[in-house]
Amino acid sequence: TKKPRIVILGAGYAGILTARRLQKLLRHDEAEIVLVNKHSYHYLTTWLHKAAAGTVEDERITIAIKDVIDSRRIRFIKDTVTEVETTTQRVMLCHGEPLAYDYLVLALGFERADFGIPGIKEHALAICSMNSARQIRLTVEARFAEFAKQKGRDGQEKLTFVVGGAGFTGIEFAAELAERIPALCRQHGIDRQRVQVINVEGAPALLGGFAPALAEYAKASLENMGVQFRLSTRIQSVDRDGVTLLTEAGEERITPATVIWTGGVQGNRVVCNEDFAAVRGRIAAEKDLRAPGHDNVFVLGDCSAVIDKRTGRPFPPTAQLAILQSAVCAENLATLVRGGSDLKEFVPFIKGAVASLGSHDAVGEVFGIELRGRLAMMMKAIIDIRYMAMLGNLRLLLGKGKLAAYVAP
Ligand code: FAD
Ligand code: NAD
Repeated sequence: TKKPRIVILGAGYAGILTARRLQKLLRHDEAEIVLVNKHSYHYLTTWLHKAAAGTVEDERITIAIKDVIDSRRIRFIKDTVTEVETTTQRVMLCHGEPLAYDYLVLALGFERADFGIPGIKEHALAICSMNSARQIRLTVEARFAEFAKQKGRDGQEKLTFVVGGAGFTGIEFAAELAERIPALCRQHGIDRQRVQVINVEGAPALLGGFAPALAEYAKASLENMGVQFRLSTRIQSVDRDGVTLLTEAGEERITPATVIWTGGVQGNRVVCNEDFAAVRGRIAAEKDLRAPGHDNVFVLGDCSAVIDKRTGRPFPPTAQLAILQSAVCAENLATLVRGGSDLKEFVPFIKGAVASLGSHDAVGEVFGIELRGRLAMMMKAIIDIRYMAMLGNLRLLLGKGKLAAYVAP
């Protein structure tokens, strides 16, 4: 009999770990495993804010997919998924022929949500992939060069960067940008006082969901680096010249300004077909992580929604959740391939969250314990090293110089 084919879409946290776990769990003759990703590399999304600010080199956070999968066990296809057709059990690709599957894992990750705010798509930058991070870095550098050339060294104008949203991404990015600014100022002969980073947040506090004391700590740490906060202020629209804010006192313009939008995420629009009833690109996963009504389709990572029974709301989409899902998904797939039906229920144990505040500070809450400064930084390094170890062996980690990147301040 023909081997069933398992097709995994996306080689982010959820996809690559599902692939790696399956290559261990299943024998050669039990299933064919195919992994599809639009790039030949896996990237650490959790480090994209650093790549976007230019505080870490791109190659430090990318890993060739062929280096972390066993190519005798897994066929890798570099292509972009355009559509999933469940009726014919095929995946449509941008370049290659349609790909048939017996089992499918949807792990295509996230996109930036713009909530229909005018001008965000056209005029704001967003951190959502390696390429978009690179675009931000290049734009920031170009703005410094233009500013030095056009405004001279002694005018009144300011070079302004507006970061829209003070969730984890907005805070982590604003901190990195603030850290990079002194070097860019030196390089272009610009007075530091003439460069401003303004973080705009609609809610009255930053890092929603974190204990107020931790949010205050993060705010003070960033203010110390020169970041200004505009809380209870919403980005209303973005245009070629800058941004319109809505404050309690009314509308306000900031021009000129370069806007980096970090106001929220949604699942990949590829999953938004009628078959899956996705809401904002996220499919409500069943207990066993399958898509409702589709016994052979699993949904993981940022394009899935898993309800937290304690709050009745979906868990925030995180790499931590995606990693935990990959283990249960791989086990359940192995059960199905072997003809079983007793699937495992996904019950995540979320350990907490840590946000970096540049390379010298961090803040977090892990196992209910509040962490600040060095302890939080150490915890963040442990999380990163643990993930690198999951991806391969320590040799890979050391060989890439990644360990040094995590541990060095
Ligand atoms: P992704 O990691 O987004 O991977 C999706 C993959 O699919 C990518 O490889 C992409 O190239 C590929 N792909 C996309 N579209 C297509 C297509 N059409 N065809 C083919 N391939 C495609 N979470 C934490 O737990 N801890 C953190 O510290 C943390 N820090 C973060 C920092 C930043 C700056 C950001 C933006 C997010 C952070 N998160 C963090 C959230 C975390 O990164 C995401 O939840 C996680 O990446 C989701 O994993 P995923 O596998 O679902 O998707
Ligand atoms: P988010 O949804 O967590 O935060 C977006 C923020 O933007 C919110 O505070 C929201 O109030 C604000 N906002 C929305 N619209 C606005 C507007 N018009 N004007 C001003 N502010 C506006 O999004 P995120 O920060 O990108 O995070 C996405 C996911 O990734 C989350 O689940 C997060 O936990 C995770 N993440 C985790 C880490 C970490 O653990 N270190 C880092 C980054 C992201």
